[in-house]
Amino acid sequence: MFELIIFGGNVVDGTGRPRFRADVGIEGKRVVALGDLSSVPARRRLDASGKVVCPGFIDMHSHSDLILAAEPQLQAKLMEGRIRQGITTEIVGNCGLGVAPSDDRSRPRLRGQLSFLTPEGVEPSWGTVGEYLELLEGQGVVVNVGVLVPHGALRATVVGFGPGEATEEEMGKMEVLLAQGLEDGAFGISFGLIYPPGQYASTDELVRLARVLKPYGGYAAFHQRGGGPETLLRSVEEIVEVGRKAEVPVEHSHEQVHGKGDWSAIWETVRLKEEALKEGVALGQDLIPYTSVCTTMAAIFPPWAQEGGLPALLARIGDPELRRRMELEVETRFPEWPPWKEGSWPVNLVRDFGWENLYVAFVEGEENKHLEGRNLRELGEALGKSPFQAVSDLMVAEGGAVAVLIFGISGDREDDSTLRELMRLPGRAFVTDAWETGRGRPHPGAYGAFPRVLGRYVREGRVLTLEEAVHRMTGLPAGRLGLEDRGVLREGARADLVIFDPAKVKDKSTHGDPRSFSEGVEVVVVNGKVVVEGDRYTGDTAGEVLRRTGRGIWG
Ligand SMILES: [Zn+2]
Repeated sequence: MFELIIFGGNVVDGTGRPRFRADVGIEGKRVVALGDLSSVPARRRLDASGKVVCPGFIDMHSHSDLILAAEPQLQAKLMEGRIRQGITTEIVGNCGLGVAPSDDRSRPRLRGQLSFLTPEGVEPSWGTVGEYLELLEGQGVVVNVGVLVPHGALRATVVGFGPGEATEEEMGKMEVLLAQGLEDGAFGISFGLIYPPGQYASTDELVRLARVLKPYGGYAAFHQRGGGPETLLRSVEEIVEVGRKAEVPVEHSHEQVHGKGDWSAIWETVRLKEEALKEGVALGQDLIPYTSVCTTMAAIFPPWAQEGGLPALLARIGDPELRRRMELEVETRFPEWPPWKEGSWPVNLVRDFGWENLYVAFVEGEENKHLEGRNLRELGEALGKSPFQAVSDLMVAEGGAVAVLIFGISGDREDDSTLRELMRLPGRAFVTDAWETGRGRPHPGAYGAFPRVLGRYVREGRVLTLEEAVHRMTGLPAGRLGLEDRGVLREGARADLVIFDPAKVKDKSTHGDPRSFSEGVEVVVVNGKVVVEGDRYTGDTAGEVLRRTGRGIWG
């Protein structure tokens, strides 16, 4: 007698091989049988006729760190849009951003920097990665979650938020803190090389820290330094260089090029990475299925203005002289290499995308809510100021709690042909890089990224086969993470499962209306528990905290 049998479905098992007809038997937290189970008794049977049954989706690039730290009821509510996409596992701590490790000095500043990722009422109290994971375990989590050690948190805690090279003593301290995080179960380190303080690190610092991973088997994930014409190629070279020198796996997170109508610069980086793979560098890559992204509005300001964190940025914006200097630089400065030198600037988002492609995604205060959804050129026109003056005033009024939505990531609102070409290339996992804090407008990927791949790009666009697309959301990331019993639907695997209708699956969330649940994902099972069934969502804390155990599969 099985607890649950899912019968009549087409199994897409996550390896990439063609679908096959099989029933799936579940006992406790595991898949215990696969095949014809029509004569096997079960306490419950779910009809999957005409549907696809596949492993739960794994999002290697989540920013749910602080959302998963919320108490279970709030967490369940904020995570619903992600779980209804079929996501059952997330890796947090990406882009060098996070609050573990931290100490009493760095924590409030990290908390301030990450306000755009933080739901109301969540106050980080943890210091180490281990304490963070224990908190999640104690409260319960709605999905499976593993962490990366964010380099920004390491550097903020040991060196501070300012620029400059780490001393030998500071390097040693960061290495120890990182090793402790890895001992506690982290899957590796993440670098966010457009954000302070991570952006102040030289390539040598990245190599040294990445070397710490070697005995543990973790990987280093990179938010590249630059995406515009001046620094894109050098930024991707740097990722490969770290992998080669440190001899550890490197993940090029959300592969992208910045631009206004011309995204062709990406092909040189693609060739460069193909060469590196041939040479044996353990390189992974992932893609967001959108031509837009969301981040903190602070990212549009020059690095020197951000030194010391958000309060310092706001103080400088308040100084007319400094504000003038910032405006001049935002309008005229080109990124240059090396970007970690004092006074340098890795990425000028305004130059890369133009004011008209930067939108106010979120503001804290009610009085400015009507400005959400406007681009910064419109914002300036509405307020009778230059775009820079308008957004600076908005930053001050909102205490810095402003998020920006950027169009122009490997495509724009009309043209996603470059993104489609990237998707056709082998080895790219799909990720969301999107979150829902319950405040402002989330990026639509928080509600629709994976169904968008299956609907828009698989069924409608025929960019990939369904089996290949599912592989890139399941077996491929599970392999990199070394998750031996997730990501592939087979006997003995954890019962993280999705049932979706391949004829109907699609994203419904848009930039204008981001909080629409996806269609066609009918059942989601996390560790054997049915958490989504049709319209019903239980909000159960069925997830588990994952600690790295094995070495991943790379290259
Ligand atoms: Zn990123």
